[in-house]
Amino acid sequence: VDGGGVRAAIVTVGNELLFGETVDTNAAWIGRELVQRGIPVVRRYTVGDVDEDIAEAVDLARGAAELVVVTGGLGPTPDDRTKPALAAHLGLPLIADATARRDVEARFRAAGMNGVPPLSSGQYEVPEGARVLRNPKGTAPGLLLESEGGWIAMFPGVPRELKAIFSLDFASALDELMGAATAIHHRVIHTTGIFETKLAEALEPVIGALPAAVRGGVDLAYLPDLLGVDLRLSIRGSSAKEADDRFDAWSEGVAEVLDPWRFDAPSGDLAEAVVLELRRHGAKLAVAESCTGGWVGTRITAVPGSSEVFQGGIIAYANEAKVRFVGVSSEALERDGAVSERVAIELAKGVAERFGTEAGIGVTGVAGPGGGSDEKPVGTVWIGVCLDGETRAFLHRYPGDRGDVRARAAQTALALLYRRLRGRPQD
Ligand code: ATP
Ligand code: MG
Repeated sequence: VDGGGVRAAIVTVGNELLFGETVDTNAAWIGRELVQRGIPVVRRYTVGDVDEDIAEAVDLARGAAELVVVTGGLGPTPDDRTKPALAAHLGLPLIADATARRDVEARFRAAGMNGVPPLSSGQYEVPEGARVLRNPKGTAPGLLLESEGGWIAMFPGVPRELKAIFSLDFASALDELMGAATAIHHRVIHTTGIFETKLAEALEPVIGALPAAVRGGVDLAYLPDLLGVDLRLSIRGSSAKEADDRFDAWSEGVAEVLDPWRFDAPSGDLAEAVVLELRRHGAKLAVAESCTGGWVGTRITAVPGSSEVFQGGIIAYANEAKVRFVGVSSEALERDGAVSERVAIELAKGVAERFGTEAGIGVTGVAGPGGGSDEKPVGTVWIGVCLDGETRAFLHRYPGDRGDVRARAAQTALALLYRRLRGRPQD
């Protein structure tokens, strides 16, 4: 059994159980029900109808288990001690519960009685904060209390009432309790442009220096692929809101390391992040691609809604195409070669001018396997990014085969534009 860490202890209350007049079938039944639901039962206590004994048994049970199930002694007669004894022990006043009151009144009305007999009015009083578990077979409702991070459930002793309450309201409450204890919350932070090992080297000392309250309980996994490294944060056993707050604090604590590399996109696709940023910026984009052969444009246009921000592109593969359709100068091609800073800049700038866009991307490189030289080995790529009339180009060298180089170059082109749009320092 694995209740996600939730264990149970059972307390049955009643002199008749101790004296052997009644066999404790409730404890056996509850044990089976809980274990079936993946909650191991680790203790069982039986006590008489004595306030101190009930309180003591519940304390022992709470020490051993997160969930304490109590049966017996919930009735209306003075020998039914469980509710007042535990309310007093936990320091909770007994207050009338409206729902329980309606149920109790309805039961007496159905039995042909006018009003609730004085002795039975206590039936709808519950310890403050207790959740009422409806009893379709009797007047004493079950009760569920949260206390010191654990739960105490109380049921009447009558076996058929216990079973009815258990299946009507308690089973679903149990699912909630187990859910709270076992829930795992995740947040993924996407990064691109930095190797997993470099990221870990930069990140781990900063994480180590975070306050324990921020760092503790947050598990971090590095999930690298060709295009970047996702960081998956996990928190177990807290509410979604708590987990969110912790994730926020964690992210803030490591922002200095992550900000240059991170991007935000619900889909995890950098192209989506670029489209969102372009929209925020009110800018449109055009691309001139050589070695990526349209890959940047393909990725952008794969994002729904990209038509708002994407004007188009030119696959300027041959030198003549670069000159004729994007306006790259023959002189630059001759002097610096097609794979050069100047050509990357002229591609980005030229395509933005031709399409009338605020943003332009130019990519030119050696994807391989042939075409490399000592000066420009396979994997050498120049990427130009133009935004609002200012153009810069960046040199990258990628490992891998032709497909890897092209995929990485397209990713970097998107990353460079993204960072420009975010106003972040660039490499
Ligand atoms: P009621 O409202 O009926 O008084 P209660 O919560 O006060 O419910 P008890 O008075 O303790 O329950 O017991 C009611 C009946 O249920 C008794 O006949 C008793 O023998 C039976 N009973 C109580 N506890 C158990 C148990 N653990 N196993 C089996 N039967 C039980
Ligand atoms: Mg009783």
